[in-house]
Amino acid sequence: MPRRCSLTFFFLATFVISPLTSVVGQQRPWSTMLPQELVELDLAARLRFDKNATTMASTDFGHLTQVLPAAVLYPSSVQDISTLVKSSFSSYLPFSIAARGQAHSLKGQVMAHNGVVIHMGSLNQTQEIRINVSSSPPNFYADVGGEQIWIDVLSATLRHGLSPPSWTDYLYLSVGGTLSNAGISGQTFLHGPQISNVYELDVVTGKGKIVTCSKQHNSKLFYAVLGGLGQFGIITRARIALHPAPQKVKWAHLLYKDFSAFTRDQEHLISSNNGEGFDYVEGSLIRDESDLDDWRSFFSEKDKEKIRSLLATNHLIYHIEATKYYDNVTAPTVDKNDSSYVGFLNRVHDGELKLRRKGLWEVHHPWMNIFVPKSRISDFNEGVFKKIERNSTTGPVFVYPMNQNKWDERMSAVIPEEDVFYNVLFLRAAKNDWEYLEDQNKKILSFCVKAGIKAKEYLPHYTTKKGWKDHFGPKWSKFVERKKSFDPKGLLSPGQKIFTSMPWQRK
Ligand code: FAD
Repeated sequence: MPRRCSLTFFFLATFVISPLTSVVGQQRPWSTMLPQELVELDLAARLRFDKNATTMASTDFGHLTQVLPAAVLYPSSVQDISTLVKSSFSSYLPFSIAARGQAHSLKGQVMAHNGVVIHMGSLNQTQEIRINVSSSPPNFYADVGGEQIWIDVLSATLRHGLSPPSWTDYLYLSVGGTLSNAGISGQTFLHGPQISNVYELDVVTGKGKIVTCSKQHNSKLFYAVLGGLGQFGIITRARIALHPAPQKVKWAHLLYKDFSAFTRDQEHLISSNNGEGFDYVEGSLIRDESDLDDWRSFFSEKDKEKIRSLLATNHLIYHIEATKYYDNVTAPTVDKNDSSYVGFLNRVHDGELKLRRKGLWEVHHPWMNIFVPKSRISDFNEGVFKKIERNSTTGPVFVYPMNQNKWDERMSAVIPEEDVFYNVLFLRAAKNDWEYLEDQNKKILSFCVKAGIKAKEYLPHYTTKKGWKDHFGPKWSKFVERKKSFDPKGLLSPGQKIFTSMPWQRK
């Protein structure tokens, strides 16, 4: 009996494999994890199984985890993506699918164990123009492919004198990737996160349907996808709000010895959110061992002198970075040309190049990003910045507030239940030994739990259902319901590890 079985398998395998190699037109190892129907599709020519492709798709910016897919799709159109998802959805052997934007994820969120990773950037290599700007007043918007990176969106819109109002601090992230999280930075207090600045989306759902959605049409899908961690569909186009672009940026740095003065002033700065105050507000920590020339610091020599003199008597000081945009008309109201608008928005890229030159970009990144309610930020300072993180030299730490009323609670993104909350961001990096930094993160989270601080993780990562349930809180049942509607077989973004009950979701 066992012998007969193995013979049958041999014949079956031969029968399956030989047509595959001839249809594709070249000898290639077809993964047994993928159904054979795939090879009969036109897109088979754009699937790669070789080690170069799968190894590339098994990594991310975090360099903390590695998961091999069975194949990588280099789509030549949105239709390719839809066909791939449809074929998994209707197959006897469904497989998981992950859209890979710029892979700046930290913990494997962009990976698909034995599934197919979609290299979204390939959509940009077609003849189609994938950033289209509408500049006829009052309809300022840009239709941009989900694979586009924000620096290219900025360049294209500036040619029309326009710009998205809400940014991330680093612009080499994909539109689909940041809209799947939220997209935050020092402008969020004023304009909301990037997900609050989207008019319309084209999405390939977990059934492979291409659906256009907005607040007015297919609104359930629209709200689900924004901040939806890639769970409900693949964003192939986003209509992004645009505003007239400023030309210049006045950039101010304020230093504090006292945490309560630092937070009081930040909260005051973000309270004037009618456009008359500052346009950008971020805060950070500076310790006596901080590198004032690190990749996220932009101090003049004069600033550095002041900082050093303050650090001579204080181990820990606080820094607010605030900017005011202006142009040639409003120039008389500000005293000095500090930076161009583009130079300011793209400042972190210089930091990236600096780290790349030192071989410090492709290292381990156990980053942690949490939202802390305003009412508990001073407890966080005492318990975390002054104790757990004391003498820590693990990278820049940012602390800045946002207004809850700029977020739309119908969207999937999760934030604390307070009118103002702080984004606290630990940008940790290590060449080798990174586990102790992860321990540090765990200590901080457990401090929050013990102290009853209702913090929420941004760019969350949990490995248990309980972790995810607690993260989403009252939004959990809606999140599950949305999954059932838009991706009932649990095919999409398996690397987030939210829905792991399907065999093709497991790793
Ligand atoms: P990927 O890592 O490629 O994907 C992330 C998730 O989204 C995956 O689950 C993936 O499957 C899914 N996904 C990707 N594309 C699509 C799509 N088209 N449709 C649906 N799902 C999709 N975040 C901020 O908010 N503000 C910042 O200032 C900021 N700065 C950063 C700076 C650096 C150096 C790094 C590494 C990260 C930063 N982030 C920031 C975090 C960043 O926004 C997220 O990691 C984001 O997901 C990165 O975009 P990406 O294109 O690399 O996404």
